[in-house]
Amino acid sequence: GMPRVFNIKLFPYFKEHKLLIVKDIHELYNLAQIRRDFVANASHELRTPLTVLNGYLEVMIDSIEPSSTWQKPLEQMHQQSYRMQSIIDDLLTLSSMESETITGKQKQVNVPQILQEMHIDAEQMSHGRHSIDFKVDMNLALKGFEEPLKSVFMNLISNAIRYTPENKSIEVRWYHDKRGAHFEVQDHGIGIAQEHLSRLTERFYRVDTARSRDTGGTGLGLAIVKHILERHHAKLVVTSQLGIGSVFRCDFPNRAVILLQDSDSESRD
Ligand code: ADP
Repeated sequence: GMPRVFNIKLFPYFKEHKLLIVKDIHELYNLAQIRRDFVANASHELRTPLTVLNGYLEVMIDSIEPSSTWQKPLEQMHQQSYRMQSIIDDLLTLSSMESETITGKQKQVNVPQILQEMHIDAEQMSHGRHSIDFKVDMNLALKGFEEPLKSVFMNLISNAIRYTPENKSIEVRWYHDKRGAHFEVQDHGIGIAQEHLSRLTERFYRVDTARSRDTGGTGLGLAIVKHILERHHAKLVVTSQLGIGSVFRCDFPNRAVILLQDSDSESRD
């Protein structure tokens, strides 16, 4: 049968009494679960036919005469089905992040090493069009899920690259203070108007639909980022000014922080 789900709140009441309010929310809960299952199943089922379509389109593009009137349409079809595939992949990632039965245990994630590799990927993505600067605390690791964390970092870095015009700079920072660890990406790109900020992490929400579609994203990146951060009890903080640039910062709590010994002390053992 369906599990019972309650929302319980305790309020101060008359004198030393307390008021306990128990609300049965199992219907709401089940509805959310049904939506999640539906999206996950639909995405999963769409994957196979798309792979077949993509495969045949590739074969056709390879075997067609370059002068054929079908070349352009075929290439466009391939582009679109490829795009559909990335949307479906993102939807699947999102639903795996949302499902309450997360697999595996959190472990030590060597963030400095990941960021070193990502710096190379970022330079490649930008084709040297931006100056990209990484400031990384080499002793700062994190307790968490490695692959999901990588996709948080990559999503924010690739957004910065995609929404920043040529020759502007992008700074990536990884540091800690008394409140916890922080991953921050600052760009000097197109920026985001205040009224959009609170909605950025909604699925498929895009500030400027036409322009965003040109940049090749799916509108799901920040929704994924938000869900992954929630699994880490971390928060996404966005500050931005239209036409000036944006800062996307992930705040990780102190209990996730792991301080690595520097390599000197390690090699002495
Ligand atoms: P998309 O695939 O469209 O980039 P995201 O979920 O990653 O989807 O981002 C949602 C929207 O937020 C984008 O469409 C874009 O309008 C805006 N956005 C995200 N990052 C930036 C940024 N660094 N600068 C300006 N706008 C951004």
